[in-house]
Amino acid sequence: MSKQKTVSIEDIKQEIKLHYNETNTDIIDLAFEYAKKAHEGQMRTSGEPYFNHPIRTAYTLAQWGLDIPTITAGLLHDVPEDTELTINDIYTEFGKEIANLVEGITKLGTIKYRGYRRYAENIRKMFVAMASDIRTVFIKFADRIDNLHTLNVLPLVKQQRIAKESLEIYSPIAHRLGMGYIRGEIEDLAFPYAYPVAYTWLEQISQDFISRQSTLVGQYIKETEKLLKENEIEYSKIYGRSKRKYSLYRKLLRPKYNKDINQIYDLVALRIIIPKTRNCYLVLGLVNNHWPPLPNRIKDYISQPKPNGYRSLHTTVFSNKGLPIEFQIRTPEMDDFAEYGLAAHWHYKQNEESTKNLTKNKKWLKQLAEWQKDIENDRNYIKSLKLDIFMDRIFVFTPKGDVIDLPEGSTSIDFAYHIHSDIGNQCGGAKINSKLSGLNKPLCSGDIVEIIINRKRESPSEDWLNVVKTQTAKDKIKSALRRSQGNFINRLLNR
Ligand code: MN
Repeated sequence: MSKQKTVSIEDIKQEIKLHYNETNTDIIDLAFEYAKKAHEGQMRTSGEPYFNHPIRTAYTLAQWGLDIPTITAGLLHDVPEDTELTINDIYTEFGKEIANLVEGITKLGTIKYRGYRRYAENIRKMFVAMASDIRTVFIKFADRIDNLHTLNVLPLVKQQRIAKESLEIYSPIAHRLGMGYIRGEIEDLAFPYAYPVAYTWLEQISQDFISRQSTLVGQYIKETEKLLKENEIEYSKIYGRSKRKYSLYRKLLRPKYNKDINQIYDLVALRIIIPKTRNCYLVLGLVNNHWPPLPNRIKDYISQPKPNGYRSLHTTVFSNKGLPIEFQIRTPEMDDFAEYGLAAHWHYKQNEESTKNLTKNKKWLKQLAEWQKDIENDRNYIKSLKLDIFMDRIFVFTPKGDVIDLPEGSTSIDFAYHIHSDIGNQCGGAKINSKLSGLNKPLCSGDIVEIIINRKRESPSEDWLNVVKTQTAKDKIKSALRRSQGNFINRLLNR
């Protein structure tokens, strides 16, 4: 899209400097030249040079405050997919960490949402489980955001698919990772393409309200500043923030609101950023003392954070114009975490206090599991989620892109029996990622598995019992063996 501005390598380095004091950016230069050469001559559908896309992706990652390896991998992320060069080449040139990140993104790229909502949850789980390094998810988000920006040049069917996939898969994951800003970006870019009619409707009913509310909030900002100065309370920022379009739409659809925009109190909220947590409470008291609060609308998410880690104080007060106004009070650090979630941990890399719990992948996963619990109240979901995270599941694909989840160590035979007993019983061989492969080879997350049927095979091999991991496969093999032994004896007797 023409409104996507051109970004240079200097812009990327400038952003890095904002977040890191002393950093060597040589590897960024190297990756820049490397990817530029690799994509040479390639064009995006929009007609612009392909390389603009990885540059913008890397720039977005730099804006989010992520580290050098992540930004480097952002520059290289489409190299193995779209050029002659392979992961091995990247490994040789950039080392293991960056090669792993790029490989992770390529793998995540194979996950396709085919519009079946019943698979959406599986796909989300797989997405997180496959990204053993959470930074690959961030790169995927930055990549997706750029693709959404340039969606208008694609055919309608593709627009719809990408927009819906963004809303069903990407934005819920961003939400779980506590990344409010990134979720909002993804949703608002995808919304008009996924649901054009609803989008137009929302624009029509909300515009007046939003402008009225903005004016009001503007006046309240002034009054709040005065209030804080009178009480000698230090603040970093006071500003109005409009509710995101898609989030407003989702809220209006809830039965409680019944599409009535009059019931939405946080169309434009007033946000106060206060350096000290203690003073957040002080300000809450001042605000509620100055304007009458609405009953049951005071929320303390500082002492009781939302399950995705969100922390803030909220209160809604009556304004003299009759329109209620929501105040959101929080420290700069809480604000950063509300907008960037897990990614914000990289902003505090030097700050031991905030990273000491969150450096190792295992710990990330545990935290993810904790944070994921709230989203679906479905008990089964929580149960299966625990299983996936703690008992090491893998996620593999059928050639059509459907997701099958299996315990770690599972083989193509487990996969075959998972699909259907007949496919298991007549399993003659397997292709993993289009390559012929031994049936006893353990599968890895992201593998695409194709079973080769041998119609002449009458029963499974007894050896398979030593190879399979799942109980289902074991049971099915045993019963098929019993049946074929029975047939054999019958045939002998009938002779
Ligand atoms: Mn890309």
